[in-house]
Amino acid sequence: MVLRFCFIIVTLVAFLFFHKQANADPVTDLAKQALNIAQPNSFKNNIEYCGLIGYHRSGALLFSPPIPGFRNSCNPGLNPWAWRDVVATYHTHGAHTFDSDAEVPSVEDLLADFAEGTDGYIATPGGRVWHVSVKDRKAYLLCDVDCIKSDQNYRECEGLKPAKEYTLKTLKRRIDTDDAVCE
Ligand SMILES: [Zn+2]
Repeated sequence: MVLRFCFIIVTLVAFLFFHKQANADPVTDLAKQALNIAQPNSFKNNIEYCGLIGYHRSGALLFSPPIPGFRNSCNPGLNPWAWRDVVATYHTHGAHTFDSDAEVPSVEDLLADFAEGTDGYIATPGGRVWHVSVKDRKAYLLCDVDCIKSDQNYRECEGLKPAKEYTLKTLKRRIDTDDAVCE
C-alpha cells in the first residue's frame, strides 16, 4: 500500500516536471528577464532600451544587457557580442503615455521584425509583454498588465485596452481609429 502510494507520488511529480519542461519556452523566459531588467531605466529616462537574445559562440542561450536607445527607437544591432545565432530582439517602450501605441507593438516594430526576419519581444509601460512572430506575421500578447515591472505612473485607459493579438492590418486599424480620451 505504501509502495503503491509512493509510486503514485513519483509518477505525479515526474508528470508535473516534464509537463512544465514541455511548456517552458527558454527564449520567452529570457526575454521577460531582460525586459524586466530594462524597465526601471526605461521609465526613468523615458527612452527605449533594447538587446538581443541568441546563441553565444559558446553555445549558451543568452540575452545581451539592455542598451539605451531613443524616445521611439533603439538599435540592438550595435551590441558587440560574439553571436552564433541571434533568435530574437527585445525592447521596452519608455514611460507611461496615453499614446495608442504605447501598450502594443508599433506598426514600425512589426515592419522592422518582418523585414529582418527576427522575432521581437516588447515590454510596455503597463508591464505587458508582446511577442512579434515572424512565422505567423502576428503580434501576441504573452501576458497582461503587471506581468513584469510597470511604470508607477501607469494608468489603464479603457478605450486603449489592447486585444490579445494583432496583424499589421488590425494594428494599423487600431492606430487609425484611436479616438480614446484619457488623461
Ligand atoms: Zn516598439
